[in-house]
Amino acid sequence: MAYGDVDVLRNVSLTVAPGTTTCIIGPSGSGKSTLLRGVNRLHEPKSGDVLLAGESALQVKPDILRARIGMVFQHFNLFPDHTALDNVALALWSVKGTSKAEARERARRRLAEVGLAERADHRPRDLSGGQQQRVAIARALAMEPEVMLFDEATSALDPELVKGVLNLMAGLGRRGMTMLVVTHEMNFARKVADQVVFMDEGEVVEMGPPTELFDNPRSERLQRFLSEVL
Ligand code: ADP
Ligand code: MG
Repeated sequence: MAYGDVDVLRNVSLTVAPGTTTCIIGPSGSGKSTLLRGVNRLHEPKSGDVLLAGESALQVKPDILRARIGMVFQHFNLFPDHTALDNVALALWSVKGTSKAEARERARRRLAEVGLAERADHRPRDLSGGQQQRVAIARALAMEPEVMLFDEATSALDPELVKGVLNLMAGLGRRGMTMLVVTHEMNFARKVADQVVFMDEGEVVEMGPPTELFDNPRSERLQRFLSEVL
């Protein structure tokens, strides 16, 4: 992956088994967001491929791909002028061609699943950061994705709102969602991840089960990173 002539990811290769959670950790600028953006083609890789259930993601139309791979961002990216309900329903009728009534019905169910049934008619500015992020998660789930990507989904939240969103993510994992989670929440990674990937300077430096990486970091780079964040 490159921005202009600058290569930012080199030789990154990883496999995520269906129904598992992979947490990606590493210092700022190490390429974590670039990796996620490559997976759903928000950024086109210069070389290499992304396989989704054996099929090249690079051959799938971007809007179809983004329905199959949901993404949740640090800053929610909700439509400010739409209600929570319409934020969730919009992509269903515009991308999936669901009727408006059916889309609203499904959106209502999704909002209930993330604990926001009572907030369906609120606009983003009338919701807390944690609630906005749960709307964003409901919006991605409404498309019935095969994979969910989270890019520092709790980094912009006030500390007391972080837990609710992390619990929601952990619950998705327990129910068998396949997830790639970029996070600074080391306790979450330790508890929830099946696999942890440590990136530094555009490379995957170490990857393995959480106990292995957190309790027995092999590389000096991971040891240094953990000593700074733990
Ligand atoms: P992380 O998410 O781990 O903080 P990023 O994937 O955002 O890292 O960035 C990896 C590298 O790519 C950094 O050196 C960053 O400065 C660079 N970069 C990120 N986005 C762009 C962009 N749009 N244009 C040019 N360089 C970028
Ligand atoms: Mg990032």
